Amino acid sequence: MTTSETHAEIREAVRRLCARFPGEYWREQDRNRAYPKAFVDALTEAGWLSVLIPEAYGGAGLDLSAACAVLEEIHRSGGNGAACHAQMYTMGTLLRHGSEAQKSALLPKIASGEIRLQAFGVTEPASGTDTTRIRTFAKREGDHYVVNGSKIWISRAEHSDYMVLLCRTAPRTEERPSDGMSVLLVDMREARGKGLTVQPVRTMLNHATTELFFDNLEVPAANLIGEEGRGFRYILDGMNAERILIAAECIGDGRFFIDRASAYAKDREVFGRPIGENQGVQFPIARAHVQVTAASLMVERAAALFEAGEPCGSEANMAKLTASEASWFAADTCLQTHGGFGFAEDFDIERKFRETRLYQVAPISTNLILSHVATHVLGLPKSF
Ligand SMILES: Cc1cc2nc3c(=O)[nH]c(=O)nc-3n(C[C@H](O)[C@H](O)[C@H](O)COP(=O)(O)OP(=O)(O)OC[C@H]3O[C@@H](n4cnc5c(N)ncnc54)[C@H](O)[C@@H]3O)c2cc1C
Repeated sequence: MTTSETHAEIREAVRRLCARFPGEYWREQDRNRAYPKAFVDALTEAGWLSVLIPEAYGGAGLDLSAACAVLEEIHRSGGNGAACHAQMYTMGTLLRHGSEAQKSALLPKIASGEIRLQAFGVTEPASGTDTTRIRTFAKREGDHYVVNGSKIWISRAEHSDYMVLLCRTAPRTEERPSDGMSVLLVDMREARGKGLTVQPVRTMLNHATTELFFDNLEVPAANLIGEEGRGFRYILDGMNAERILIAAECIGDGRFFIDRASAYAKDREVFGRPIGENQGVQFPIARAHVQVTAASLMVERAAALFEAGEPCGSEANMAKLTASEASWFAADTCLQTHGGFGFAEDFDIERKFRETRLYQVAPISTNLILSHVATHVLGLPKSF
């Protein structure tokens, strides 16, 4: 069986699952700011959240492009993978850099759904994108670390049993700014109320994101992933996977908008003919299709490099940029095609429009990608 056939089967199965969670389900979650638990449970039970976990640890042992297919189809169906997609890339940090004891203790339980590894704690209020300036500090005291500091925009912290936390274990130096950071696995169930406070942040989309405060939180030293001080390198792989997976979600969003815009443009009659007969309506939809198709090739390329273990930082960034811009153009086109009805909740366009806008800011903003391409790919002078 070829890879594309495998993916075709995955896509078909994910579409069938998503059909059980139609627009009305997502509208209700959005209206009530609710966590889509039934959907996440169904995905977990079907094994779709553990596709990247090796078979030896109870997962399907598939590659990144299979996970991309899962997320793309969720988004194409009108749903949203953000409630649970982090498990796919945070798990990778544990898989690639964790000890055998950590992996055999956690991965099978993550694969079965017994525990959730959904939270990834990097961003801080004061440092923003400038990750080497994070201030959350973990001080080693005997057999544990004592963590103090804060994080912002940490999604799913209320719905996760564990968090992959990036913190400083040594002060920043100008010579080697990315040294001295470490990755800790925080057991959220034990930490809450014992040094960890989780504060939800309400946003323009239904996204369970939070602010975290650490006040002398004790984390066992056994929960350190890899070596102390090398954490920044460990999360970079995970960030490449995250960018590629989220780019796949953008492709799914883009296809959702194009499907909806095309269907509406064929159906809606004004001035005695379908609006889609007007080239002023057709062309933006066609342009959106061209852009989403081109971006999907970039996503495939980045995923292939990641799977081959090749450097893929630039490609992951470019995939994320092209896909998020394509989905945003498709969103705008779809809304415009629907005229006033695009603003009505029942059409799902306005919700998806809000949801897909996020991806030009998170997990990395467009400017920071352009800066990477300018300086790392084109060799232009660095501005910071
Ligand atoms: C809903 C949501 C969920 C999130 N989930 C998580 C999560 O689970 N875990 C996590 O760790 N983080 C998470 N984030 C954080 C997200 O990754 C950051 O918001 C994003 O990386 C941008 O960082 P910032 O908000 O600090 O912006 P800043 O770094 O403050 O930047 C603000 C703006 O200035 C621009 N800018 C900054 N510096 C430059 C420069 N030198 N040149 C040009 N432009 C510049 C940026 O592009 C951006 O547009 C989430 C954010 C949101 C909104």
